[in-house]
Amino acid sequence: MPKTEHYQWYTEQFAPTELHAHAIEETYYAGRTPFQSVAVLRTAVFGKMLVLDGDTQSSQADEKIYHESLVHPAMAAAADRAEVLILGGGEGATLREVLRDRSVRRCTMVDIDGQVVELAKRYLPEWSDGAFDDPRARVIIGDALKFIKEDGDRYGVVISDLTEPLHDSPSFPLFNGEVFHDIKARLVPGGVYVLQASTAGFHNMALHAKMARSLRAYFKHVRSFYTHVPAFDNDWAFIACSDEADVAATDAARIDEYVGGLRGENFFYDAEAHRRLFALPLYLRRELAQDGDVFD
Ligand code: SAM
Repeated sequence: MPKTEHYQWYTEQFAPTELHAHAIEETYYAGRTPFQSVAVLRTAVFGKMLVLDGDTQSSQADEKIYHESLVHPAMAAAADRAEVLILGGGEGATLREVLRDRSVRRCTMVDIDGQVVELAKRYLPEWSDGAFDDPRARVIIGDALKFIKEDGDRYGVVISDLTEPLHDSPSFPLFNGEVFHDIKARLVPGGVYVLQASTAGFHNMALHAKMARSLRAYFKHVRSFYTHVPAFDNDWAFIACSDEADVAATDAARIDEYVGGLRGENFFYDAEAHRRLFALPLYLRRELAQDGDVFD
């Protein structure tokens, strides 16, 4: 077994005092786009990985845990899934999961960074698995903020698969009350807005709680859920919002019927995993109940 000094390392910094290092077996690409720094790596344990601005976005070994969690609870609960909108989602795996549902007529994906999308097609084709060529896919390279302002269509599900809303990220302008209001206006009755919503990790759940608090001013049901994503070395959180659908309370029969109708087999999500996703530990429920600052 080679010793640690034989490897080069990619070190992800979760917080000023928390690091996780992955041994790099190969670097396919490392550079900067006009929007962010990008690395496409292969790591020893997790296989290929996309890293943006130093943060792991997804890994070959476990991206299905993240993408199935982001997509399927919201889709299973939505009243109408004919039109779906993805904000971000550069790798194409969110698009892949949405298009596994035969009732989707069109899925629009809007990502600001055409270079990330092209790098994903070139080096990470397993993520999209043909979804970019599906005639139901409409892929727009542009700012999701501009798209939301100008687009007049309505959607059964809006999925935010954006980078985290850190101040220097191109996603930051999409996290404020005006945008939440605009997205709500884009939903059909019974529609669901679901977001990847940072970490529920013990040391760093404040950003997630801030997102949930902010969204509660706009939607009747705002449900946090999370799962452990090994490549992130973290509990990853999501938020499902709707005025009509309480996504946490979708019953098992409805989930079974929805999952049974998908093309291919799930890796992670089913009715049992759904219960686990939404069963939050006491410390997180307490954090979510706290007053605090909001994205306004
Ligand atoms: N799994 C991810 C994570 O851990 O944060 C998010 C996945 S995805 C790679 C994030 C995508 O959001 C990137 O491809 C990035 O280009 C896109 N993005 C960031 N800001 C955006 C904006 N304003 N409009 C559209 N796409 C944006």
